Amino acid sequence: MAHPDVPVKSVDVNYSKILFWSLAFLFINWIGPLLCGKYADTSFDFVPASDIPSQLIGLIGSSVTHEKWCPHVPTQLDNRIKIPSNFNQSFDIAQVKNYQYKDGAYSPRHCQSRYRIALIVPYRDRLDHLEKFLAYMHPYLMKQQLEYKIIVVEQADKKPFNRGKLLNVGFLEAQKMTKIDCVIFHDVDLLPVNEYNMYACTHMPRHMYSAIDTFRFRLPYRELCGGTIAILARHFNVVNGFSNQFSGWGGEDDDFCKRLAGKQLEIVRFDPAVAVYVMLPHSKTTPDPQRMQHLQSSLARSDVDGLNSAKYEVLSIDILPLYVRLLITL
Ligand code: UDP
Ligand code: MN
Repeated sequence: MAHPDVPVKSVDVNYSKILFWSLAFLFINWIGPLLCGKYADTSFDFVPASDIPSQLIGLIGSSVTHEKWCPHVPTQLDNRIKIPSNFNQSFDIAQVKNYQYKDGAYSPRHCQSRYRIALIVPYRDRLDHLEKFLAYMHPYLMKQQLEYKIIVVEQADKKPFNRGKLLNVGFLEAQKMTKIDCVIFHDVDLLPVNEYNMYACTHMPRHMYSAIDTFRFRLPYRELCGGTIAILARHFNVVNGFSNQFSGWGGEDDDFCKRLAGKQLEIVRFDPAVAVYVMLPHSKTTPDPQRMQHLQSSLARSDVDGLNSAKYEVLSIDILPLYVRLLITL
C-alpha cells in the first residue's frame, strides 16, 4: 500500500479536484441553464413578447384608410430560444433572384404596410455573407409585410473599414431617395432567427439582439449597441448619427450608445426569445488602436463629429434587383 506522502497519491487528488471543478463549471454554465429551458440573461430589461405590437411605431402621417392596413404580425409567447436545426442550410439566393425592386423598394401587394423602413448595411468584401444575407432577409422581411428597402453602403477605397461613417452616408443618401422615418442599421453577418422580431421602430432606439449565438445567447454588458439598431430618423438626427472617427474594428458602437445616453434616449430590447440572432462565421478584423482614446471624448465631440461632418464621395448608386448599392469613398 502506498504511503500518504508518496507523490502518486497527491497527483490523484489534483485530478479529482480538476474533475470536480470542471463538472461544476459545466453545470453552472450549460446544464443549469438548459434545465431551466433558457439561455438568456435575465438581469437585463426586456419588452415581453406580448407587449411588442403596442411598442411599434406605425407609419407617420399616413392617410390610408383603416381597412387597407396589413394585419399585425402576432407575437410568439413561448419564451424559449429556439434555433432551427437546419438553419445553416436555408440560404438559397436562387429563391429570391427573380424578386425585383420597384423604384428601389418593396411593399406588400395586397395591403398597406404599417411600417416603412430603410435597412442600411455597411459593407466591403464579404460577398459570401452578402449573398446569404439577401437570400435570408428578403423572405423574412416580406413575411413581416413591411415596406422596405435594403441599402448596402460599400466602401470602395482601401482605407481601414469605417462602419460608423458608412452608416452615416447610408442614412444621408437614403433621406435623399425617399422620406424615411425609421432606419435599421444592420451588419451583413447577422440573421434574425425568430420571424416575430419585427423590423420596425419603437419609441426609443432598439438594440435588435437580446440573444446571439456568438455571446452564447447572453449579452455581455448593458451599454451594448453593436450589430444592429432600429432608430427613428429624428432620434438619429438628434445624436448627429455615428462618429466618423473610428476606422478599423470597434468603438463606434459604444460611442453611439454614449451619444444616445447623452440625449436621454434609452435603449430598449425585446424578449430574448424573439430578439435572437446568429452571426455568420468570420475572422476578426484589425481593431482601431485609437478607439479607447476616442471613447474618452465621445460626448464632447458628438455635436461636431457625425452626420454634419461626414465628407465622402458617391461613386455610383445602382438600383439592383435585390438591393440598392451605394459605392462610396471616404
Ligand atoms: N464589414 C464588412 N467588411 C469588413 C469589415 C466589416 O463588410 O471588412 C461590415 C459587415 O457588415 C460586418 C460589420 O461591418 O458585419 C461589422 O464588422 P465585423 O463583423 O468584423 O465585426 P464584429 O462581428 O466583430 O462586431
Ligand atoms: Mn460580425
